[in-house]
Amino acid sequence: MPRNKPPFEKVLIAGAGPSGLLLALLLAQHDIPTIVLEAWSWLDTRLRATQYGVPATRVFRRAGLLPDFRAASIPKFPAICWRRVADGEKLVEIDMSVVEEEEDRMTVLQLGEMIQIMYKHCMDPKRGKGMIDVRFNHRVTGTGQDDGKAWVDVEIGGDDEQKRRERIEADYVVGCDGASSAVRRSLFGKQWPGQTFDCRFVVQNVFYDGFEEHGWDGGNYCIDPEHWGLIARRGHGGLWRVTYGDPVAGLTDGEYLARRPWHLKAMLPGHPEPDQYKVEQTNLYNIHNRCVDTFRVGRILLAADAAHACNPMGGYGCMTACLDVDGLADCLIGYYEGKASESILDTYAQVRRDIFLKYVDARSIKNLDRVSKTDPWTVLETDKFFGILQELNKDKDNLKAFLLKPSSIEYDFKQHYDRTPANDELEQVMSTKRNGIEVAVEA
Ligand SMILES: Cc1cc2nc3c(=O)[nH]c(=O)nc-3n(C[C@H](O)[C@H](O)[C@H](O)COP(=O)(O)OP(=O)(O)OC[C@H]3O[C@@H](n4cnc5c(N)ncnc54)[C@H](O)[C@@H]3O)c2cc1C
Repeated sequence: MPRNKPPFEKVLIAGAGPSGLLLALLLAQHDIPTIVLEAWSWLDTRLRATQYGVPATRVFRRAGLLPDFRAASIPKFPAICWRRVADGEKLVEIDMSVVEEEEDRMTVLQLGEMIQIMYKHCMDPKRGKGMIDVRFNHRVTGTGQDDGKAWVDVEIGGDDEQKRRERIEADYVVGCDGASSAVRRSLFGKQWPGQTFDCRFVVQNVFYDGFEEHGWDGGNYCIDPEHWGLIARRGHGGLWRVTYGDPVAGLTDGEYLARRPWHLKAMLPGHPEPDQYKVEQTNLYNIHNRCVDTFRVGRILLAADAAHACNPMGGYGCMTACLDVDGLADCLIGYYEGKASESILDTYAQVRRDIFLKYVDARSIKNLDRVSKTDPWTVLETDKFFGILQELNKDKDNLKAFLLKPSSIEYDFKQHYDRTPANDELEQVMSTKRNGIEVAVEA
């Protein structure tokens, strides 16, 4: 509870994706009201993220989401390996069973299911506390601000409804509206420095008995210049996610899909024909590594994919999205509760951008290059990361420590709170109160 009148009343979030809903939940824990505007009449069910590393898992735990994510996930995730597509040979692997008892181990869940759970939490009176107002069919088309407030212009209405326009105001606007962010475009137009890769990323849910018959499990990164990607067990009932990059640029989606049997025959164990597997859902993407020049313009902030995008190899996108909003939540909470000045929002903008450019951008490109550009016959000897994994595999304790250690992409913004005795005491009281609520909710 803020000591005096808080310096702001309400935050408006564009986008009910993972970053928007998570930010709303984290703010609700501190009684900060949010309006979340979602362009569509539904939550996004396209096939995208499925794995979220330990840093993201720590945020899910903090947000009270982890038990429900674990309950919906596959029970065990035994290993992540890198294979040569040409002969299916497993080159190196990480044995994830060393952390299977650890609460903060990697989370595995299809993004579509994860967002549904987040939304349920937002609507739950104990968790969302009536603080989160999610409005579907509200497409943000522009933003603006003056000294005292910020606003978004929205187009309201479903697919077959007459649209009406409205302006909605708040103290701050946060763009969590994904890679094609209208909030970002309202600030910077088409300018979004970075690169789009010359390939089409083809993503499908696949049922195929051959995976188990050939002893495949967990996550399998596939190394090959023509057939690179990730094949991973992702759901109950034999559901696997098969993703690959088609390196030919400029085809129509129909032409890409016509090439799918050729890719799957090369990549799947047993080299099956199309009548031997079932494809349940497919989505195609362009992939990018991009970042805006600044995450803050006055009362308008950007987070997650709206601010930066990275190719999906290595699972950095949503993980970084979660860390962005975790950090932004701490900054807004610190300011709201009188423990930090408004300038902490500049610190958020600077630090999270630096982390993206220094670590996430660089590492995700390395991950992409590893599967798509290296020589699959020599990569085991030439790739430094594989050398590190081979060393770690010699000692389970070292491997476990490596998997759980704090990552350079995590950052605690509470270190920028004013450390007065009164604030420390307040933090103590708030934390006891929050834990009390958490226990009550879990029970
Ligand atoms: C194939 C693929 C696989 C991936 N795998 C992984 C993985 O395993 N692990 C990982 O960490 N990351 C992965 N990612 C990245 C991850 O999916 C994204 O980083 C993550 O979804 C970003 O979340 P977000 O909330 O920023 O944006 P989004 O998930 O894009 O959500 C944005 C929301 O805003 C809404 N919106 C858009 N425009 C407007 C508007 N004008 N007004 C109102 N609402 C709007 C959208 O409808 C959507 O609901 C993958 C991505 C792809 C494409």
